[in-house]
Amino acid sequence: MAARRGDGRAPLGDERAADIIRAKRDGRALSAGEIEFFVRGAASGGIADAPVAAFLMAVYLNGMDAAETAALTSAITRSGVVLDLRDVPGPKVDKHSTGGVGDKTSLVLAPAAAAAGAVVPMISGRSLGHTGGTLDKMESIPGLRTDLTVEGLRRALATCGAAIVGQTAEMCPADRRLYALRDRTATVESTPLIVGSIMGKKLAEGIDALVLDVKTGSGAFMRELPRARELAAAMVAAGRAAGIRVGALVTDMGQPLGRAVGNALEVREALEALAGGGPPDLALLCRELAARMLLLAGLADDLAAARERYDGVIASGAARARFADIVRCQGGDPAVVERPGRLPAARVVREARADRAGAVLAIDTRAVGEAALRLGAGRGTPADAVDPAAGFLLSARVGDRLRAGDPLGAVHGATEAQVAEAAARLAAAFEIGEGDPVPPPLIHEEID
Ligand code: URA
Repeated sequence: MAARRGDGRAPLGDERAADIIRAKRDGRALSAGEIEFFVRGAASGGIADAPVAAFLMAVYLNGMDAAETAALTSAITRSGVVLDLRDVPGPKVDKHSTGGVGDKTSLVLAPAAAAAGAVVPMISGRSLGHTGGTLDKMESIPGLRTDLTVEGLRRALATCGAAIVGQTAEMCPADRRLYALRDRTATVESTPLIVGSIMGKKLAEGIDALVLDVKTGSGAFMRELPRARELAAAMVAAGRAAGIRVGALVTDMGQPLGRAVGNALEVREALEALAGGGPPDLALLCRELAARMLLLAGLADDLAAARERYDGVIASGAARARFADIVRCQGGDPAVVERPGRLPAARVVREARADRAGAVLAIDTRAVGEAALRLGAGRGTPADAVDPAAGFLLSARVGDRLRAGDPLGAVHGATEAQVAEAAARLAAAFEIGEGDPVPPPLIHEEID
């Protein structure tokens, strides 16, 4: 905390902070310097919680224009270490999803893009609340570590072309403080603050190109399509302002992606997709996202050629072999690729069943994610432990016609009591009734 001045007045820094808060409170656009001052103060601790919280609320209420959002993003990126991967040959490209239930595309995209010639420094997150996390999925592979140092990441990229790791403590310290305060001040749901947080971290990876998968629907952070579209467009603009190539798809999270929800179950399903199989929605989304990664990375001239290149690395087995390389590079057991039976398996598996006949009208995807969390597949607070074997293998999707007693999905858990409770929660997430529901499209829009 800055010391008070000799005459008893507040430190000069506090006066500047108050001026900036007042300006945003009154609806004025802030300069890059003003935003930088706040972000630096948040990272260093030089600005106390109260003014940072007031700043966040002023931004929440009055928003930020594209130039302010770009300045916020850049300041968050530069608040810590920015990876310099210029000495690793090849175009650096990543994919980021705003999170959902059953979304294991990263496990397919990183090795597939690397096998096609890209370098993929995929810095990912853990599960929190109803959404799954890529790091937890990867860590269900015996021995695999995601806590690589910056040097370890560089070595992994040079050897395998891709790594799936957690953020190091030196990256984006401003985001950690801002996010913690947003959580306590009801300011999480602000488009410029979300853009600054997500894009700030992605730009710290030192990438040339990024594909965004912004989810919409009952399991998404942005449930409504217009809000998802707005977020996607703002993230694309912030990335382009920072000088990288960015594309975005708005995709459906009105039902879980694929059949598997839960860490080891999702790794198995990703391995199926890497072998050219897996559920059709997962296979299609992986193909479309990968094609855009390769196109933006400059590894294909158009989308059709990029899809062909993806199909090639899947059909030849190169993507699957590259996944084994990534697992080996990160200390894991690469034999899981040939023998997924080596992944953790649940002690208890029971079917959840439809309690009536009819069509699946809708699935409350958030409720499915919350049921998986309570079963042990996710965490309610960052300190919670995860059961890698827990989760669901769903068998019903929106539009399916069911008889009473038909299976909705297999519940995998540690105890009979946990599995019975999760089966009841899973069944309650399915809306079954009369009607002819049209399943939602998987890809709603492309943001260009
Ligand atoms: N994920 C992030 O990393 N930041 C946000 O603000 C929201 C989702």
